Amino acid sequence: MNALFLERAEAAYLGLALGDALGATVEFMMPREIATQYGVHREIRGGGWLHIKPGQVTDDTTMSLALGAAILADGGQVQALSCAQAFDTWMRGKPVDIGNTVRRNLIAFRHSGNPVAPVSEFDAGNGAAMRTLPVALATLQHSEAVVRAAVRAQSHVTHNNPVSDAACEFLTLAVQDFIRGEALRTVYRRRIQPLIEDYPEFNYRGPRRDNPSGWIVETMQVVLQSLMSTDSFETCLIDAVNRGGDADTTGAIVGLLAGALYGLDALPNRWLKALDPKVNTTCRIQAQALSRL
Ligand code: MG
Ligand code: MG
Repeated sequence: MNALFLERAEAAYLGLALGDALGATVEFMMPREIATQYGVHREIRGGGWLHIKPGQVTDDTTMSLALGAAILADGGQVQALSCAQAFDTWMRGKPVDIGNTVRRNLIAFRHSGNPVAPVSEFDAGNGAAMRTLPVALATLQHSEAVVRAAVRAQSHVTHNNPVSDAACEFLTLAVQDFIRGEALRTVYRRRIQPLIEDYPEFNYRGPRRDNPSGWIVETMQVVLQSLMSTDSFETCLIDAVNRGGDADTTGAIVGLLAGALYGLDALPNRWLKALDPKVNTTCRIQAQALSRL
């Protein structure tokens, strides 16, 4: 594995955590409330409805870390049962927050032992998409078909829905392209355009999407608008989280993409210093270990 690839993989993992930590402060706020309270929210300061400490992360990062550890323990395999067990153990650890769909389907797993959630047209939340990064890193050397199968193995534990699948597969393949050094215009042509052709609901060209709910369609509209309208890691994340709504998750998802795109040197030092040191270290170690599989 090329040293630059490893750096961009690390930047993606830290980007996820930074976006989560930055966005959590303004999760479920309206853009107008954010503007009144902070002007532009641009510092990792904790607080928010979860009353987190400055630099603390939420489920978006901690579920990713649980998934990454499970993949490493399985020698790089992405197995539904191991993913479900890891998420269940994570849930027993009383995480700071947990999505409704995640909780419901993990409780169903406890009862049935079946790690695959039933197909549901309603389970189109962003809870599987927010934790795609470990699979992307673990399957960097694999064919697209293997990547897509691995994505579904982890995502169907809690979200078995075609729109969620489309987003999860897109995010995984796009972040892999960025880690390999592809430019934004290439990823636009290769991934974003085809996604919107197949799933027009993800079309992000239109009115500014503010106050996104946890629905994957609104999440993706914010992620794509912020990614395509900015030219640095910092401005991209600030643009996303100041739209409020599910800001920790839009921050986390656009953070992993922008981290891989702009690289380690683009991550603001003041944010890295503010990030929980244990999370900072674990993200770096997992990024290296998963990318070397
Ligand atoms: Mg969260
Ligand atoms: Mg959230």
